Amino acid sequence: MKSISIIGAGLSGSEAALAAARLGVQVHLYEMRPVKMTPAHHTGNFAELVCSNSLGGEGNTNAKGLLQAEIAHAGSLIMEAAKLSRVPAGGALAVAREGFSEYITEQVKNHPLIQVHSEEVTRVPDGIVVLASGPLTSDALAEDLKRYTDGEHLSFYDAAAPVISFDSINLDIAYRKGRYDQEADYINCPMDREQYDHWYNTIQEARQHTPHDWEKLEFFEGCMPIEEIARRGKDTPRFGPMKPRGLHNPRTDREPYAVVQLRQEDHDGRMWSLVGFQTGLKWGDQKLMVQSIPGLEEADIVRYGVMHRNTYLCAPRVLHNTLQLRADPEKLVAGVLAGTEGYLESAATGWLAGTNAARLALGLEPICPPEESMLGGLVRYLASANPKGFQPMNTNWALVPEFTIEGRKKLGKREKRPLMFDRGLNAFKAWHSQL
Ligand code: FAD
Repeated sequence: MKSISIIGAGLSGSEAALAAARLGVQVHLYEMRPVKMTPAHHTGNFAELVCSNSLGGEGNTNAKGLLQAEIAHAGSLIMEAAKLSRVPAGGALAVAREGFSEYITEQVKNHPLIQVHSEEVTRVPDGIVVLASGPLTSDALAEDLKRYTDGEHLSFYDAAAPVISFDSINLDIAYRKGRYDQEADYINCPMDREQYDHWYNTIQEARQHTPHDWEKLEFFEGCMPIEEIARRGKDTPRFGPMKPRGLHNPRTDREPYAVVQLRQEDHDGRMWSLVGFQTGLKWGDQKLMVQSIPGLEEADIVRYGVMHRNTYLCAPRVLHNTLQLRADPEKLVAGVLAGTEGYLESAATGWLAGTNAARLALGLEPICPPEESMLGGLVRYLASANPKGFQPMNTNWALVPEFTIEGRKKLGKREKRPLMFDRGLNAFKAWHSQL
């Protein structure tokens, strides 16, 4: 039987290693820490949590809760460690970080089928490989990865704009239209002068609260954060991403003073991102800024904007929903490198990539969970999202099909989420029982 190699023993690589070893496959796991550290890690432990100690909200109304339940059912090592090291955190699954990583390190190192190599990988090895080197992939390996991505489709910074769920946009105010005679592919939020002044004051106020670390990054002019554009002058956003030219508002029969445009992010049109609004504002301030835009007063932000160092592939161009690279199906990708965001998402894609790598070694077909499950929804999104300006995605309800009951009007969030939770978990369990 073939063995597999895994690069990186972070959240995704540790999970991948144990998933593959539990299927009886020999694993070579390469981790460069502590020999070579990243700018964010502090220890040589596996699955170190570099920032917050939370794996997200729990329970049957929470999208992360569904993903937690799915991977716990599949035997996830990260969920096992989280349960043993959890600390009280209201409705969230938070852990004592040292105990969490120490448990994972021990389980991985002590598994008889996992051989750990403490070294930096600078070239993707031959054979079946899971690439799980994360957002801080070392430079030499990132350079080599270009072999699989046509030299493109690999990003080094995350410059993401907030993403809003479609059903929270007020279409009595916002309107569909393309600029001049373009197709009406965009949703436009119009502002008069007073509304623009209000928005501008909100973003100026928010800017004062934001840490300036990310400002040390060198940004391309084309992906300047909206708060930096606003800092350059009161009218600068109106001549940049908020330009109203050619966006005549049919309700007032006039061109607005300024416009915020939203572009579709997913196939079904349930997630929309604010065009040109990449931002590093703190999440609370970001929400205030977004909700000060007419038509977005009740906006449900499914993904906040971020600006930080991040190595990730343009998944919709290079990945299958089994997490195999299109250019070489023996190479699989997991975690942030695969275009996900978050500890939990990294662990979940790690489990799937490890499982599929082991299946390839055993001569079996790779698999993809059902679309109703959160993991199924997430990997399908990665393989099919709009590749233009693709940004890593975290778990949210818009990744799984909408829940409807025949003959009933639209269900409210509180009513439908537990139903979507049960549907997803049942589908996952039924699928998993057949593996
Ligand atoms: P990692 O957990 O980083 O694992 C990758 C591993 O690969 C590392 O151990 C690294 O040392 C190793 N490696 C890299 N290159 C090589 C090489 N060439 N050879 C061998 N080994 C290599 N998510 C959250 O949910 N909450 C947060 O609070 C949060 N904060 C973050 C803060 C920062 C600064 C960053 C960069 C990301 C943050 N994330 C956060 C996002 C993400 O969830 C975490 O980075 C998560 O650890 C990603 O899991 P991963 O497995 O993809 O990568």
